Formats: sequence, structure tokens, C-alpha cells
Amino acid sequence: MILPGKTIGILGGGQLGRMFAIAARRMGYRVAAFDPTQDCPTGQVADIEVNAPYDDLAAARRFAEQVDVVTFEFENVPSETLAAIEEICPVHPSPFVLETTRHRLREKNVLRSNGFPVADFVEVRSADDLQRAVAQLGVPCVLKTASFGYDGKGQVKIDGSTDLVRAWSTLVGAFGSEAEAPGLFGSTLLGVVEKFVAFEREVSVIVARTTDDDVKTFDVFSNEHRNHILDITTVNKTASGKPGASAPDDRFAKTAKELATQIARAINLVGLLCVEMFVEHNGTIIVNELAPRPHNSGHVTFDAAVTSQFEQQLRAVCGLPLGDTTILRPAAMANLLGDLWQHAEPNWAAALADPRVKLHLYGKRDAKPGRKMGHITALAETVNEARAIVVAARQSLMQQ
Ligand code: AMP
Repeated sequence: MILPGKTIGILGGGQLGRMFAIAARRMGYRVAAFDPTQDCPTGQVADIEVNAPYDDLAAARRFAEQVDVVTFEFENVPSETLAAIEEICPVHPSPFVLETTRHRLREKNVLRSNGFPVADFVEVRSADDLQRAVAQLGVPCVLKTASFGYDGKGQVKIDGSTDLVRAWSTLVGAFGSEAEAPGLFGSTLLGVVEKFVAFEREVSVIVARTTDDDVKTFDVFSNEHRNHILDITTVNKTASGKPGASAPDDRFAKTAKELATQIARAINLVGLLCVEMFVEHNGTIIVNELAPRPHNSGHVTFDAAVTSQFEQQLRAVCGLPLGDTTILRPAAMANLLGDLWQHAEPNWAAALADPRVKLHLYGKRDAKPGRKMGHITALAETVNEARAIVVAARQSLMQQ
């Protein structure tokens, strides 16, 4: 067990690490952040900030010497770096989990071979492969890069009129530089084509597991995307557990949570895992993606749950008992993207004029369009009311 007073190392210095560090420091831990960029969101609130490229093995070893356990908030850390760190201190979740979930094909193969429901998919390495895959799966379908994709980047939807040669070259050109996708250039691009799922809604379940196989899930989060980026998450208050006939929605939630639990066990997770799922109109659940770390859809837990996803990650990687995941009230979260900064500094006072609004900003200087800069949460009597509050507050940020 790694107890308060010890130092937690976190690979990646973005907002997920920042909120993790805030939770860890509140419980008396020290935090060391490793990120290539100085003054990163996590570094700003950590005890120690190490700035070096992720493939700097000497820096990674020095980092590992200073900490008692390493976890991460960023998946694309090279395997050699993880191996070097693991020789010095424990890494949770394991490098196996990281290497599986950061690669769509490996992830889908592991899910499918363990009997979990995924959309039909085919591996592709060229425009010719793509033609064959689309003929096999039928349209519509979605072409994705096997690695480095996020927020819809490295993704092309294919229908009957798509020029497949062009679609393949779009995918190759999706990443602008070696820095953005280290190792991708020069190697053969690997893609995956999957059947398009005409889902009724998108949901996620965040699950935590310890080395002692203590497992706890949060309730199901409902997620709305805009331009492939998460826009709004809502979650209902945890049901009181009174006996009686369960509603269809409860049965679906139970299945979604069971799936997340089984996946966590199947990959031998120690830490936190977000399972993103599609729900079809008939209630069938299809697993879309795994993220072995806190997730944007779980930000709402900071204000709405007894234990936040960040504290739960800390407890899981330290071997502490897991915290209560009860959601205390219906809640909503709206992301704040860099677009909101394009004409003027957002009007914070206008958004905070509603006393129910909670503001979370990540300390990023450069407000590029599409960049996640912060989020707003609200708790209310109903999910719809909470959603309306965060949407109105975000709108008021643009008042002059
Ligand atoms: P991903 O990067 O795989 O999480 O995809 C980003 C978003 O694209 C998802 O949240 C969905 O809204 C959409 N998407 C991805 N794959 C599919 C699919 N097979 N069918 C329908 N929509 C998809």
C-alpha cells in the first residue's frame, strides 16, 4: 500500500493529470509530473515537474527514482520508456494495458477474443485493402488509424459515394508532424475499418480495480459529442436501491456496468478504465473504445460524486480501499473549447452569476479552436435542469 506522504509520478501533464494531482495533494500525497512542455497544466499544481521528451530514457529513469508509483494520463508514452520506469518502480495500469488500449486493432482484438461486443472490423494497410474491407463490411462504415487518433482525428466516415483512394490518403495526412505522432511516419500506416453503428446514444462507464480485485464502477454517463469531441455529459443521481421491479433503463445500466467490470478483470486492470459504448435503438450495447485513465465524461464526478474519478484512480494505484461512487444529485458537464476565446476573453462573471455553476479551468495559455480549456458543471433536481444550467452558463460566456 502506498500511503499519504509518498510521491505519485504521473506521465502526461494535461488536465487529467492536473485534476489527479489536486485530488492526490488533498490527501497528502506528493505529485511529480512528466511532460515535454514546461508549465503544463499538471506541472502547475504538482510538487515536481520534469520536462523531457517521452523517449528520453535517462530523464524517465531519474523521474522514476523520485517517485513510489507511476500512473499516467496520456497513453502514447513509448514502450521503452515504460519498461525503463518499470525496472525502478511499479506502473499502474500495466504497460500491457497501455499498449493494448492505445492501439485500436490490439484493443478490438482483445475485446473480441474475450467475447465482448464490438462493431465488426477489418484491418487495412493500403487503399486496396480498404476497397476489400468496405466490400466485406458494407456501407456506411468508418476508417480509423490504429494509433494516435483522438477526438475524431484520424477518422473518415465512408458511404456509397466516398472515393476510397482519397479517403486512404486523407488518413495518411491526418497527422501533421512527427511530434504529433512519434514513430508513425516512415512506418506503414495501419488502419481499421469498422461498421458504422446507428446508435441511439453514447454512454461511458468508468471502472476502478485494485490489485486485490476490489472493483467499483460509477453510474452510466450519457455523452453528447459535437464535431467528434465530447460536448456534454449528464448523469443521474444514484438510485436508492429500494427493492421493486427495475425499469428498462436500470437493466441497461446494470448490463453496461457489468461489461465494464468484466473488461477490467479481463485485462487485469489496476487503476481506472473508461469504457465508451454505443447503445443501439434495441438496447444492444457495443463497446467503442477503452481509455485506461480518467476520462472527460467523468469530470462531473469531481462535484457530483462522493469520490471523484481522480481520487478513485489514486486509491486504485496506491492499493487503498476504493471510494464510494454514489452520485449525490443529477449532474451535467459542458466542455469549454478554445473556440470560446476567439473573439474575447470569456465572460466568467456572467457564467458564475448563476451560483449553481462550478467552473474548472486547466491553466492552458494557448486557446486554439477545438482545444479543451476547461469545463462547467452543475447539480440540480433533474438531469434536464442540470443540463440546461451548464448550457446557459456556457452561452453566457460569450456575452460582451
Ligand atoms: P472514437 O475516436 O472511436 O471514440 O470516435 C469518436 C466519435 O466518432 C464517437 O464518439 C462516435 O460519435 C463516432 N464514431 C466512431 N466510431 C463510430 C462507429 N463505428 N459508428 C458510429 N459512430 C462512430
